[in-house]
Amino acid sequence: MPSYTPPTRDMQFVLHDVLRISQTDTPGYAELDPEFTSAVLDEAGRLASEVLAPLNTVGDTEGCRLENGVVRTPEGFREAFEQVKAGGWPGIDLPEEFGGQNMPYIMGTAVGEMFSGANQAFTMYQGLTHGAASAILAHGTDAQKATYLPRMTACDWTGTMNLTEPHCGTDLGLMRTKAEPRDDGSYAITGQKIFISSGEHDMAENIIHLVLAKIPGGPEGIKGVSLFIVPKFLVNEDGSLGARNGVSCGKIEEKMGIHGNATCVMNYDGATGYLLGEMHKGMRAMFTMMNEARIGVGMQGLAQAEIAYQNALAYARDRLQGRAVTGAENPDGPADPLIVHPDIRRSLMDQKSFIEGARAFLLCGSQMIDQSHRGKDAQAEGMVSLLTPVIKGFLTDEGFDMTILAQQIYGGHGYIEEWGMSQYARDARIAMIYEGANGVQALDLVGRKLAQDGGKHVMAFFETVKTFLKENEDNEALRADFLDPLKAASKDLQQAGMFFMQNGMKNPNAALAGSYDFMHLFGHVCLGLMWAHMGKACHEALGNGTTDRAFHEAKLATGRYYMARRLPATKMHLARIESGADTVMALTADQF
Ligand SMILES: Cc1cc2nc3c(=O)[nH]c(=O)nc-3n(C[C@H](O)[C@H](O)[C@H](O)COP(=O)(O)OP(=O)(O)OC[C@H]3O[C@@H](n4cnc5c(N)ncnc54)[C@H](O)[C@@H]3O)c2cc1C
Repeated sequence: MPSYTPPTRDMQFVLHDVLRISQTDTPGYAELDPEFTSAVLDEAGRLASEVLAPLNTVGDTEGCRLENGVVRTPEGFREAFEQVKAGGWPGIDLPEEFGGQNMPYIMGTAVGEMFSGANQAFTMYQGLTHGAASAILAHGTDAQKATYLPRMTACDWTGTMNLTEPHCGTDLGLMRTKAEPRDDGSYAITGQKIFISSGEHDMAENIIHLVLAKIPGGPEGIKGVSLFIVPKFLVNEDGSLGARNGVSCGKIEEKMGIHGNATCVMNYDGATGYLLGEMHKGMRAMFTMMNEARIGVGMQGLAQAEIAYQNALAYARDRLQGRAVTGAENPDGPADPLIVHPDIRRSLMDQKSFIEGARAFLLCGSQMIDQSHRGKDAQAEGMVSLLTPVIKGFLTDEGFDMTILAQQIYGGHGYIEEWGMSQYARDARIAMIYEGANGVQALDLVGRKLAQDGGKHVMAFFETVKTFLKENEDNEALRADFLDPLKAASKDLQQAGMFFMQNGMKNPNAALAGSYDFMHLFGHVCLGLMWAHMGKACHEALGNGTTDRAFHEAKLATGRYYMARRLPATKMHLARIESGADTVMALTADQF
């Protein structure tokens, strides 16, 4: 039976030893001292490991069922949802005025990683609600905020995002769902949306759908798209629930993973919708939700890697196969545990060094979101915008790869459902696809984000790396293991950026053929930077006589592994980028 141990110790290390959150001037951070964050994370971790994790296999095997238009969630989900609500977790970082706890976003990320690691499918009901609430918060009228936000913050009403249609997922300008204005200021929404996560279920009194649709007569393509609030039950003036709206779930999809989350075909038959934000500026409003969701999906990549790794590690310590090449390590037993073998170590170190680097990256990104939202820091806002596709694309690709490595440690047993490893790989797989498939994230990074605001944000990123290297140039303990590899990798990234600048205009295919490699190159440099920061924090802790020597020494060794064995991937990515588009585009479509 797989188990989940909340990574509280590691989170505390990143929050306090690396990011030093309570010493920064970001509004709301002064309260986040180690005792406070530890209390929050312990409580969230208990819920994750004791309530949500045991339901993960149940959700996978039982799945959701559509009965008479109502989706039944797996056994135990409703009760667990009530516990999550009772703890106030859905509104952890939403404003107090709407019933939230107003903690910084970084705390929501740490808690979210635990919940997602324990049970991704379950956590999505709450995650999408959070995203929808954020969009209403950013773009809603005062009346809309007052009507929806208190109930959504509490998750009495959950939320969804409706973009995808049968003939379009990436190219949303092709959308056909229409919104016809009515005399009372509302709109009649008609069309079909597919693949809608948490679209229908039995855990909430109401479901608030955020739906993209086109108002007839508006501009063509994506410029004519607006965003609407479409409640499952209409809401009366006094806040009570009224008539059932013209939206229904036509079908739930059979799919590869996240079986506990209902993926629905949603039919809108003249459903009443209310404009959210400005007319024809729907993508702008939806991006509030999508950007948040992209960070959340990046987190899912990390979270699935973590739980898969935890179980693979336990198996590697337990399973006896073969002898260590350097002599028996378990001489009284029939064989040594798997963990003695270098190739198993390689796999475990790949996983561990990714997970810990990714956690630091995600928490650092969340800190930037707080600096941007709470601190009104424009540079942080630009950096978040630049790094969002990297967080989404790199962490989900790598996160999935790590679940496969973890599965491999189980040999044949990894392929057998009983052991649970297949579920992690299946659940992690979707994160590479939804919220914009990873190829599209790479496109966004190279096609839009690099040149955004005259390339200011990518220059600021390089400056951050340069400043760190300069500030620590006399640090002998860091130089060979951390600083030199980071410097080399950052140079590869700059060279790749230069290649796009020199070639992108005259040959756009050259830039786009290298975009996926660039996203990974960028991701490795980000994790390399995080590891350099963590290496520094560990040396300081060891120098100051830490009481947790084993933790800091293991962390340093893991960082050295990343810098020596994973970071050199930047060279390969650079070589591919610099080879341009010739070999990629050499065949005509019918030569394949
Ligand atoms: C389980 C599940 C849950 C989902 N939940 C939601 C949800 O809650 N709400 C919602 O609205 N949608 C949801 N989706 C839909 C998901 O976001 C889309 O499937 C995804 O964005 C891709 O769209 P598509 O499937 O139409 O693929 P397409 O757009 O047809 O793309 C196919 C492939 O081509 C690539 N591609 C497309 N255009 C380009 C280009 N210009 N350059 C290079 N490559 C390109 C893509 O990267 C992709 O790999 C969900 C999907 C699934 C499977």
